[in-house]
Amino acid sequence: MTLTTRFAPSPTGPLHLGHAYSALLAHDLAKAAGGEFLLRIEDIDQSRARPKWEAQIYEDLAWLGIDWPHPVMRQSDRMAAYRGALDDLWARGLVYACTCNRRDIAAATSAPQEGAEPVYGPDGLIYPGTCRNAGHPKASGALRLDMRKALASLGNRALSFTENGHGPNAETGAVTFSPDQLIVTVGDVVLARRDMGTSYHLSVVLDDAAQGITLVPRGADLFEATYIHVVLQALLDLPTPHYHHHRLIRDDGGKRLAKRDDARAIALYRENGMTPEDIRSMVGL
Ligand code: GLU
Ligand code: ZN
Repeated sequence: MTLTTRFAPSPTGPLHLGHAYSALLAHDLAKAAGGEFLLRIEDIDQSRARPKWEAQIYEDLAWLGIDWPHPVMRQSDRMAAYRGALDDLWARGLVYACTCNRRDIAAATSAPQEGAEPVYGPDGLIYPGTCRNAGHPKASGALRLDMRKALASLGNRALSFTENGHGPNAETGAVTFSPDQLIVTVGDVVLARRDMGTSYHLSVVLDDAAQGITLVPRGADLFEATYIHVVLQALLDLPTPHYHHHRLIRDDGGKRLAKRDDARAIALYRENGMTPEDIRSMVGL
């Protein structure tokens, strides 16, 4: 099987050193194995995606010495595929509509046991399940995965994926996790935001499968999300690629780089006379 990797940036700001690391790593791993490197534009958040950032992505990657086949997959072209998967999960009774806003969730989370610490998962507060059995019509809100039911439909078996890099706690090799664990630490995640008709989790899983991605290099901040992705792959009968989570590039103060951290934008380093080789050595490649 050919090794196929990808880089999947969101065109919502400039690419910084962390993105350069992901992109170069994905590109190098594919080339070293005689495989293929693909690019995907993750623009489901149309309120934040901008053509100018997409153009900048192409320019920065080309400058870094990365090439990719055309046409490039864009998530905004894939809404029918996302809808199809949601319809399927809805028909199987595995997703439900949720009309809660952030404040409702915070209130419901703190109400039952005073003093109990709210639990946070990869997407924030664990959803307390308010709408799970409310029978809201499909179009009335966000669509959430009924995690308990979903895991039961998979036979409540342990799930796993192969980690070629490292998770935040040095997880590597075969990473196994149990259904009980996910119900507590992840809960009923949103698969379709009301304003988007999809979510990062659903789109990324469908797109990695559609592009035939066999190895996903990305930052260790997405390690926890991988649990969700593996569940979705099992539910939707999609292959689970291997993952290569890499350390995060931090600024001089040890803080994680954010999209807004324009000071570390590739474009700026380039304007200041740095070479692609300088960028490579800055990220440790
Ligand atoms: N689009 C995501 C981001 O820019 C990356 C998704 C992924 O690599 O799975 O943060
Ligand atoms: Zn709700």
